[in-house]
Amino acid sequence: MERQLLGLRGFLIDAPAFGALRSKRRGALIIENSRIVEVGDFDDLRRSERARGLEWIDHGAAAIFPGLIDCHTHLPQYPAVARGESELLPWLRENIFPVERDFTGPKAREQAPQFFHELARHGTTTAMVYSAIYEDSCDVGFEAAKASGLRVILGKVMMDVGSYGTLQPRKVVSVSLLESERLCRKWHGAEDGRLEYAFSPRFAVTCSEKLMRGAAEMATRFNAYLQTHLAENKEEIEKVHHLFMGARDYTHVYEKCGLLTPKTVLGHCIHLNSREIAAIAAAQSNIAHCPTSNFFLGSGLMKLDQLMKAGINIGLGSDVAAGPELNMWQVMRAAIDVQKARANYEPNLRPLRPNEALHLATQGGAKALGKADKIGSLDPGKEADLVIVDLASIAPYSKDRQSLDDLSPDDVVALCVYRGGPHATVQTYVRGQRVYERG
Ligand SMILES: [Zn+2]
Repeated sequence: MERQLLGLRGFLIDAPAFGALRSKRRGALIIENSRIVEVGDFDDLRRSERARGLEWIDHGAAAIFPGLIDCHTHLPQYPAVARGESELLPWLRENIFPVERDFTGPKAREQAPQFFHELARHGTTTAMVYSAIYEDSCDVGFEAAKASGLRVILGKVMMDVGSYGTLQPRKVVSVSLLESERLCRKWHGAEDGRLEYAFSPRFAVTCSEKLMRGAAEMATRFNAYLQTHLAENKEEIEKVHHLFMGARDYTHVYEKCGLLTPKTVLGHCIHLNSREIAAIAAAQSNIAHCPTSNFFLGSGLMKLDQLMKAGINIGLGSDVAAGPELNMWQVMRAAIDVQKARANYEPNLRPLRPNEALHLATQGGAKALGKADKIGSLDPGKEADLVIVDLASIAPYSKDRQSLDDLSPDDVVALCVYRGGPHATVQTYVRGQRVYERG
């Protein structure tokens, strides 16, 4: 393989541990093929042996972050963002199932590439995604993910209760499992591991025990991911109590079916009791916190401190279309706002800081996806998933270079969290390959 070298200059900022920011103002990194091989001050690196003959990419006043990680989003739902004013269950029936029902054939082929382009434009380099219930909706999604260059974990939504599909109910379980298995065999580990499969029973309200058990067994068999939703909304939880009378609580339903594994990512987890939190921690399952979605549907305020204290890995998710944007900076901001809102009636609550939110959207998300050794920070040896942010696009007075030089790393992160977005993304890289460039 031909050796490809790439040098990038900028204000390097990452958050390898919760609460700790690391930075190099006049920094640089060298990427060899897909990996970061050197990180340091530009003045040192340019003199290094590796940098001989290297052409440096320099975007001026720009910050280089690890690529953003979206641990929970829905490919077919994007056209329905900001639609509806009800809570979870009626919102799904009225606004989401109709959009997912149409996500097949030419429409899916037209929308899927745009969706992944949007992710890259927002600086997201890794995403864990649900498609619709159809095999082709997921297959087309993988084709688009493959072409996009992004790191994607995707799965076909499985549901056999109250589904929008047209299959005879008694056939749904076997067909859904068969199609999921076929997709997993085709895509899990494709593109040298850039694409992976997630068995995706939607949630206990729309899944029988038989379906959930089948999904869990297959995920174990293929060492694939599992993703589902848990304890998002109070009406949902009531419904699960009635549907599964023998279960101690909502989490117990998933435990009994074998769905709690170290490769499981549970969306939301807002209304959990202490037994449930302990069970998730014991199973080493992971949580995708989706604060923009929780605000939009009025689902509740995540008890982030309790879940972290239990030692559960937590990443952030846009949860489009309940979350109105794919913009992970906005998701970080909302994560901070959730804890601020809680602090109004829990006065001793510790706030979530911008650098901690950045951790959740990078290294924290990587950990939740079992990829902490590959992505999430700017360390030599990691795969080069990066986003370059133009600081002039987020500063109040954009042309004042001097004022940008005065910004501390925490200032830069706060500006990104409160004002970042696709307008400020200069370039996005996955494995050292450019997957987006601002025109
Ligand atoms: Zn969701």
